Amino acid sequence: MLELRPNCEGCDKDLPPSSPEANICSFECTFCTACVETLLHNVCPNCGGGFSSRPIRPKNEHRPGVSLATRPASKERVNTQYTKSEIAEFVSKLEKISPENR
Ligand SMILES: [Zn+2]
Ligand SMILES: [Zn+2]
Repeated sequence: MLELRPNCEGCDKDLPPSSPEANICSFECTFCTACVETLLHNVCPNCGGGFSSRPIRPKNEHRPGVSLATRPASKERVNTQYTKSEIAEFVSKLEKISPENR
């Protein structure tokens, strides 16, 4: 189950569970669309994988026990440990390779 982290690791923008701007890698590193497009170029700076749009968990309980109310989002903010220049160097090595071939 996804943690649904509350913020962008890159710019610390709030990304609530209903945000259409949240993007995740396969390890659930979480970044906003602006960071993915302009800073990361679809390269996760933590693992080198690509991103997909984070699914939105339903706030209403359509099936028993599976809603945002019963499975709440994480409140633990995560921020990247890398500097902007470290990220740029990492991204420049991988951005030309498609995620399927990384
Ligand atoms: Zn961001
Ligand atoms: Zn990652």
